[in-house]
Amino acid sequence: MTSSDRALLDPVTRCPFCAVSYDGERLRTLKKEGRREMLHATCLQCSRAMFYTIERSEQNISCVGIFTDCDAQDALRFMDRKRISLDDVLSVHLALGKMTK
Ligand SMILES: [Zn+2]
Repeated sequence: MTSSDRALLDPVTRCPFCAVSYDGERLRTLKKEGRREMLHATCLQCSRAMFYTIERSEQNISCVGIFTDCDAQDALRFMDRKRISLDDVLSVHLALGKMTK
């Protein structure tokens, strides 16, 4: 397999909405942890942004892409924040339930 074949199989080379190749400046690595990498991409054609989590091994590549309205700076800022817990979700649910009564 050549490097160009690998590039075709790389899940973050193109925008999933309009299929235009990501420009190098618009594809930013936010964090690397061992084999896991978190990236933010903004498409030059349609301006949509994606947040990707990629984990590479010798046998496979797994990738989860999430459409986002955050730019790369926002994504970095949110990554440093406390995670939302089930208790947080339950609190919001109960508060919203009280508002509709
Ligand atoms: Zn696009």
